[in-house]
Amino acid sequence: MSSEEDVARGAKRAKKSTSSPTQHSLLPSGIQDTICCSASVVGKGLGKAKPPRTNCAVCDRAGHWRADCPEAWGKAGKPLPGFSARGKRLTNAWEDGNPTKETFAKWVTFLQDKDNFPHGARVFPKDGAPSLKDFKRAARQGAPS
Ligand SMILES: [Zn+2]
Repeated sequence: MSSEEDVARGAKRAKKSTSSPTQHSLLPSGIQDTICCSASVVGKGLGKAKPPRTNCAVCDRAGHWRADCPEAWGKAGKPLPGFSARGKRLTNAWEDGNPTKETFAKWVTFLQDKDNFPHGARVFPKDGAPSLKDFKRAARQGAPS
């Protein structure tokens, strides 16, 4: 009788361990995990990944993933390059719908900062999401068209 219980308990344990998340395919649950990929945040040149269909849960605006929310980053005391601490675009940090080269250079630093990404900044799990390399190239050459 007790052995049956053990089997049941064992099965439960096994189930729990196999359902542990595979980090790389999961959408991030918040900021400080993935490289920003929304066009409204990183510009139209690098922002080729599809935006979410729902409004941002933090600021209620459309067009960016919660992980990219300029307001959320600002509230955390880590304003995104090209944005104010309140999540507004800094106009002189942008030109023609893209961050300037100078702003991209700030992104390169921002993305590699362990204070911003304690476990490293991983590429957002959507097709077309930019990598650190893309930001480095944009800092040298400007945004791709
Ligand atoms: Zn937002």
